[in-house]
Amino acid sequence: MKQSRMFIPTLREVPAEAEIASHQLLLRAGFIRQLVSGVYTYLPLGYRVLRKIEQIVREEMNRAGAQELLMPAIQPAELWKETGRWDAYGPELMRLKDRHDRDFVLGPTHEEVITSLVRDHINTYKKLPLNLYQIQTKYRDEVRPRFGVLRSREFIMKDAYSFDVDREGLDKSFQAMYEAYQHIFTRCGVDFRAVEADAGAIGGSDTYEFMVLSDVGEDTIAYCRECSYSANLEKAEVRVKETGTQEGVEDPLPLEKVHTPDARTVEQIRDFFNISEQQIIKSLMYKVDEQYVLALVRGDHELNDLKLKNLFGGNVIEMATDRDVQTLMGTPTGFMGPVDVNRDKIKVVADHAVKYMVNAVTGANEQDYHYQNVNVERDFTVDQYADIRNITEKDQCPKCGGEIAFARGIEVGHVFKLGTKYSEAMGAKFLDENGKEQVMIMGCYGIGISRTMQAVAEQRHDEDGIQWPWTVAPFHIHLIPVNVKKDIQRETAEQLYQKLQDEGYEVLFDDRAERAGVKFKDSDLIGIPIRITIGGKIEEGLVEVKLRHNGEVYEIPVEELLTRLNKIVADLI
Ligand code: ATP
Ligand code: MG
Repeated sequence: MKQSRMFIPTLREVPAEAEIASHQLLLRAGFIRQLVSGVYTYLPLGYRVLRKIEQIVREEMNRAGAQELLMPAIQPAELWKETGRWDAYGPELMRLKDRHDRDFVLGPTHEEVITSLVRDHINTYKKLPLNLYQIQTKYRDEVRPRFGVLRSREFIMKDAYSFDVDREGLDKSFQAMYEAYQHIFTRCGVDFRAVEADAGAIGGSDTYEFMVLSDVGEDTIAYCRECSYSANLEKAEVRVKETGTQEGVEDPLPLEKVHTPDARTVEQIRDFFNISEQQIIKSLMYKVDEQYVLALVRGDHELNDLKLKNLFGGNVIEMATDRDVQTLMGTPTGFMGPVDVNRDKIKVVADHAVKYMVNAVTGANEQDYHYQNVNVERDFTVDQYADIRNITEKDQCPKCGGEIAFARGIEVGHVFKLGTKYSEAMGAKFLDENGKEQVMIMGCYGIGISRTMQAVAEQRHDEDGIQWPWTVAPFHIHLIPVNVKKDIQRETAEQLYQKLQDEGYEVLFDDRAERAGVKFKDSDLIGIPIRITIGGKIEEGLVEVKLRHNGEVYEIPVEELLTRLNKIVADLI
């Protein structure tokens, strides 16, 4: 492609709404443009990247035995009512009406449509397993669309759905998708991890999120420095064996009530008593569905409300209101504690670490008072000890005991065992070998195609621009004659442009009559992996090859260019 003809609207200024590097660079380099909040055009350069990612995804999905189809973006509300998601999905669902006042949605995902399709056409075990996928535009009215196409309201997703006769079949389908995802993200050239995640209310046991490691990621990943364990912070289990407890160090002292005016938070209590946060029991009141729960964690730990919810098998967890706390405990929230709790109405659950605390400080259930020297069993009891807190970097790996570290990640893919949630609700059944009716077992597998494009740019850039990996780059080679007014430069470039394309390279030919500085700046910004420059040295028969990702430069005699290039490229892939 000749650059003089290509639509690449680059920007000099960083647009104000772009907070992170990848968003700024994709806008500046002319890959995307915003139409309205969270809705983007993929410009020619951006669309080329998108198509390459799609192609990688297609190849790997097909190789794993999935079949491509394309479902509509517009879906009738009736289907969503069948599964209950018309009500449950909330304001993220884009709803619309047709001229007959019938309700529709713009699909945020396609479980309903695919399940209705399969239930209508598959009724025997002989036609299963089946895995169908599409690459299609999705709509979600996100509360906070941001970071360009990382979190947009209209985006491109690959979604696949598997249908199996039993759990074993699902395990196999799931494993095939998990492996396909490993290939896909490896081929896209990103540093990623498959992370154990929470299955949520859907109840499937296995779910993994594929995370591109990046400081701008919205999710925290806890991973082991020694083994392959990695999990979402909300999911990571904490080993029961506690380190750094005060077990056996002190003798229990008599319980004492202390006047602590205005000391409500862990920090205020720590300073008031001049103790460490490890000596404080934090008491938090939650409501899990209809059950009130007093949850106790050590002062330096963070309660994990997802774990607490799952402990009760609940659907909804929320913090009790100040008014609820006043009614149930007779105290403002900052002075709550586990001593003398009305156990008819409230369940008391403590994190395992609380069991080992000696002479702790807690709220006294009275405004402006705390207890000190509180001891478990002597001063209060609990209904249950459980893992209800977030893992910390001081904890051990739940798998191997190794050191835990935290990283941030961008979720680019998700593999999920759905089980029978949708097939049950929508009656997707088949006859098994014995002629008995069974419900299909489903899995679903998503990849954010547009999000992946930006995640690559977020991970692979420097201060001058993007550094696209070969596999997803908009072009392979950026061919730049420094001065097109010099015949020899222009003519050599024209010849190379043809030759390189004949060899199968995708070439962006900067045939513009711009200054060298401008051309190089644009070239760094756009980030094509290989730049070939034809400048003054062509008089001696030399051209320059420069690699975008590490700045390495080679001066190569023009007649050797193709052979040398093939070697350089082989090393890049
Ligand atoms: P998130 O937690 O980031 O909102 P999600 O759990 O809602 O993601 P899924 O429903 O699993 O996402 O969708 C599958 C994939 O679609 C995600 O892994 C992600 O890559 C992509 N995706 C989801 N929401 C968006 C969005 N608003 N913009 C761009 N990509 C998205
Ligand atoms: Mg979401």
